[in-house]
Amino acid sequence: MSQLDDLYRRVIMDHYKTPRNRGELDEGSVTVNLNNPTCGDRISLQLQLEDGIVRNVKFTGEGCSISMSSASMMTEAVMGKTAEEAVQLADKFSALMKGENPDFGDYEDVEALSGVNKFPARIKCATLAWNALRKGVEQGKGKHEDTEE
Ligand code: ZN
Repeated sequence: MSQLDDLYRRVIMDHYKTPRNRGELDEGSVTVNLNNPTCGDRISLQLQLEDGIVRNVKFTGEGCSISMSSASMMTEAVMGKTAEEAVQLADKFSALMKGENPDFGDYEDVEALSGVNKFPARIKCATLAWNALRKGVEQGKGKHEDTEE
């Protein structure tokens, strides 16, 4: 297992040092700001939802390596997915944090955070970005589907 831990640690540090999709989107996108006061992590997530699809997603923020690498992985995982698929991925991530072994399909980097479930205090670090995603998708729905229902 130590080899796997080492691989996982490398994946986490790679996302932490070279975050994917870091930055800001133009106006018209949904913005969600969330904090994790127990660790001091904060994230600002921006989502561009079009026709129920995550067209673009970016984040800024600061915090520990777990929170920032998780945000980086989350943006890669949900890019181009439907809002529904994005929420399903968030559910899978919650399952991962409970020690389950969900299938993330073609995006395996997320599994590098599986070890976090052994450290309850850090779970909030890892789920911060995914909670922001859930809120963003909810807000995006409210914005565009008013006329349909
Ligand atoms: Zn943290």
